[in-house]
Amino acid sequence: MRIIFYALTLLLFLPALVSKGQVTSHAVLLQDTTRFVSIGRRMSILEDKTARLTLAQVRQRTDFVPSYSEKFQYGYTSSAYWFRFEVTNHSQENQKHWLLGLLDAISLDYVDLYLVYPNGQVIHQQGGGKRPYVDWGFFDPAPFFRATFPTSQPVTVFVRIESSLSMYGNVTVWDEYYNLSKRQVVIFFIWLFLGLFILRSLHSFVLARFIPDPQFRFYVLCTFLFYIATLARAGVYSLFLVNYPILLNWMQYGMVRLLPLGLAVWMYSLMDGQPVFKPLRWTMLLVMGISLVGALLPLFVENAAIGEFYAILILATYALFFIGAVLVCTIGRKPTPYFVLPITLCIIPFAFYQMATLRIITYTPLINQLPMLALIIEMVVMSLVLGRIVLTYIRERIATANALMLEKVEVDKLQELGALKTRFFTNLSHELRTPLTLIISPLSELKKRFPDEPMLPMMERNSNRLLGLINQLLDMSKLEAGQLKAQPEPGDMAAFFRTLADSFQALADRRRIHFSFTQNESEYWASFDRDKVEKVVTNLLSNAFKFTPQGHEVRVDVQLAFRSVQFSVSDTGIGISTANLPYIFDRFYQVDSQVNRSYEGAGVGLALVRELVEVLQGTISVDSSEGKGTTFRVRLPLSAAVQSAGKIMAPAGIPAT
Ligand code: ADP
Repeated sequence: MRIIFYALTLLLFLPALVSKGQVTSHAVLLQDTTRFVSIGRRMSILEDKTARLTLAQVRQRTDFVPSYSEKFQYGYTSSAYWFRFEVTNHSQENQKHWLLGLLDAISLDYVDLYLVYPNGQVIHQQGGGKRPYVDWGFFDPAPFFRATFPTSQPVTVFVRIESSLSMYGNVTVWDEYYNLSKRQVVIFFIWLFLGLFILRSLHSFVLARFIPDPQFRFYVLCTFLFYIATLARAGVYSLFLVNYPILLNWMQYGMVRLLPLGLAVWMYSLMDGQPVFKPLRWTMLLVMGISLVGALLPLFVENAAIGEFYAILILATYALFFIGAVLVCTIGRKPTPYFVLPITLCIIPFAFYQMATLRIITYTPLINQLPMLALIIEMVVMSLVLGRIVLTYIRERIATANALMLEKVEVDKLQELGALKTRFFTNLSHELRTPLTLIISPLSELKKRFPDEPMLPMMERNSNRLLGLINQLLDMSKLEAGQLKAQPEPGDMAAFFRTLADSFQALADRRRIHFSFTQNESEYWASFDRDKVEKVVTNLLSNAFKFTPQGHEVRVDVQLAFRSVQFSVSDTGIGISTANLPYIFDRFYQVDSQVNRSYEGAGVGLALVRELVEVLQGTISVDSSEGKGTTFRVRLPLSAAVQSAGKIMAPAGIPAT
């Protein structure tokens, strides 16, 4: 953190450290030893507000003012500027190989150079972004011109500049051979930067393809737009698109205006739905819209006022970014600060650059170089951030794997315990059932022998109840162990239901309950698991009779349809409260109320019913209101069966398969 702090402080103060030159003379003297002369304060300047003056008119003017600065810097203006200075060449060797260059002046649309010789001859050359060079010997985005300075003869030089962007730079005269060697370095850096840009973009896009993090993806988009804009600012497009003026114009001016878009889209993605972010999110959306329009504008219209508006917008977006970054890092999502850091590093020098174009701070060559440097720093920082992300990810994975392993061990243990419990239950139920059946059969014998003995029927009833309960427990254990499977067998299902209902008639009579049974078919052959369906119906019916008082009603309705049966068991009994309804299918659950406690039961019946229905691949539902009654609905799938006579039976009107 401390290193980052020092780096930021250095970036903030660097522009102020660059000192101003001390040259005062107005005539430029070139010597043999001259390699590179800054004209700076040796020239005088004329502002042409009409931007229409010709050289002849300018030569008449006497209101040129001396330059007070080594570099020139104008904000967004529709004026053209004329520079005038005098060059006297004292070199015997070099007369023809001089260059006149406007260092760093990549934002100029039009540049005109006039060399006025003592004999009255005038040589005119043109350059600038909108009049790209034909001479490719220079390969430099800043305007460079060849010049001949005859020995000891003063040549008056006029330079005219005009642009819809802000204009800044340094007027210089170079020895061509010296310049050539310098040029190699410039060319090297241009290619280096282009190469880095292409590699970096490819790398980011490939990573974004595999990292499913929207924050990262928008970050990639944002930095991509940063690079595109930086290339435009560096004038790189003019080197390649010289033959496509419309495209060049658009790339050069439009791409820079995508900067706010990239930044706003990314910031928008960082701000989640919290109310604090709402106004900022709307502002970001607005910025996106304006930015997009701005990117398309150069295709139609372009002037200094539009240029200035977008320069201010870019600066405003930077300010918004800092406000948003602080907010997002303090109240936003956790990983956000990692992403904010590299972009912040980029934006600081970009902001200096922007302030220079708006003339808020003085332009220095360093300000021009900083954005490139910043992007390189961003690459390094982003790599570190990615490294951190990967490390965190690996740590999380290891932690999850460990947790999973522990969980598995626990699950295995539980399963083992469960199996042990089931085995115990099964064995116990078996052991209890055998002696019980040995009690029940002699009991019925005894009942026959002593029909008048009043204790015997009671003994038999309770023994049967005990046997029923043991059987249910045994079924539950089998279900749990997964041993209970559906075993469908062909049979007449209508007859089956009829017999089952009949067996409850005696109970209904005894309890004085109105019992009715309806069914839509009198004969229906299907394949079904007789034992399990019987258990389901018996359990539901027993409950219905158990919880229905005298004089009330119990109804069974069976609807046999094509490949399914639906039956309902309803009663007008005590009902189940809404609070208890969700739990009645739980094992050993009994509604705990004064009324219910007076009934017998163990809370196993409905749990068994539900599990049996599941084994039969059916569904069960319940409707109940307290004091009014309860209805259970069961739906079971069936497969068609062949009647013993060989005929396939299905309900009337439905084709049999
Ligand atoms: P139990 O052996 O106690 O009857 P069940 O699992 O069959 O156990 O039923 C669970 C609880 O659901 C019962 O205790 C009872 O309170 C409630 N219940 C089940 N069927 C009915 C019904 N038809 N009417 C009212 N309450 C019922």
